[in-house]
Amino acid sequence: MHKILKDGVEAASILWRDFIWLVTAILLVRPAFWAADDAFGHVPHSPLLGIAFYIGFMLLCVTAHELGHAVAGSLMGYRIHMIVVAAAGYRPPVRKFQYIFLTDSGDFGGYVFGTTPTLKNWAKRNAIFFAGGPLANLLLAAALFVAARNGAGDALKGVVANLALVSLVIGTQSLVPYSSRNGKSHSDGAQLLALMRGKRISAEENRASLLQGLHLDGQDATLWDDRVVAEIESGEVESDWRAFRDHMLLHRYLAFGDLQKAKRLLEKSDAVKDGTLPSLTIEYAFLVALLDGDAGRADDLLGKAPDDACEKDFSFLRAKAVVHAIRGERDRAIAAVADARRIAKEEHRPLDENENALFLAIEQGRALPRQWQRRQAA
Ligand SMILES: [Zn+2]
Repeated sequence: MHKILKDGVEAASILWRDFIWLVTAILLVRPAFWAADDAFGHVPHSPLLGIAFYIGFMLLCVTAHELGHAVAGSLMGYRIHMIVVAAAGYRPPVRKFQYIFLTDSGDFGGYVFGTTPTLKNWAKRNAIFFAGGPLANLLLAAALFVAARNGAGDALKGVVANLALVSLVIGTQSLVPYSSRNGKSHSDGAQLLALMRGKRISAEENRASLLQGLHLDGQDATLWDDRVVAEIESGEVESDWRAFRDHMLLHRYLAFGDLQKAKRLLEKSDAVKDGTLPSLTIEYAFLVALLDGDAGRADDLLGKAPDDACEKDFSFLRAKAVVHAIRGERDRAIAAVADARRIAKEEHRPLDENENALFLAIEQGRALPRQWQRRQAA
């Protein structure tokens, strides 16, 4: 496509999303203020009450929407990594809440991030996952309308009916097809439409999602699902994700104490060849020094690390200590170990048994341990 045309389409797409969200935000104003009137009609009119209802209603309905996705996904065999409503994120696998700076998403006011272990026959399940959010809003709206009709007390009836309206608006707007500002997230309507048109998630996209999921779960790398790791190891990922894939796999192999596998991974890594991720180059230098005893090559690799890494980076100092130890420069090796220990302490990063054994061997001038133990799961 011609560049100007492409830029135009991109700008129009962003305008479209902003327009939909603006209309949504405006449509929620009246029900919120009506509900405030219904609830506190006798109190002199205060816009603050309306705003409070506006925020409360919106949070309730966005929560219902995101829980709808999460429940539908879980029922379909998704692993739900993150549920976000406004600024609050919840990570079910580790049962942790965290602050999220939400700037861009497919859903109005939140999102759910889930992964599927495989791509086979998942189009229908994907559709149910995407439909779960809007469906939750529509069901909630229906239930609230019925409650408002049959319930007692005019004030409460008014509040409930207006909450139903808000849920209806949020559910309906999510079915309008649009994309997020960065073009990477899409509304539920856009996802469902794409699925109906036969678009499927590619294996590369799926692997990228699995990587993000593993990273987000943040659990001990020895606890990762073997099938997921095998899926990531066996296939290609798009170039944007390669450095990250290598980083994650390295983390896994080191957790298992498999230094040879870690070294083979980095030997083939584009990120090490291009120097796109200095931390990988530093780890590779460390493994070259420790396993091959090649201090010269390791030092060359360390020379590619950015200058500010040299004094402050634990991995850099650890690699440097091994290089000095191999060259028989014992004082310098011991100094590097001392620096590495200090950094670990400052960063509240306790040394594991492998690191301890290595550092002790350097300090005591013994042969360096070339075998690592599997890290104990926390
Ligand atoms: Zn949604």
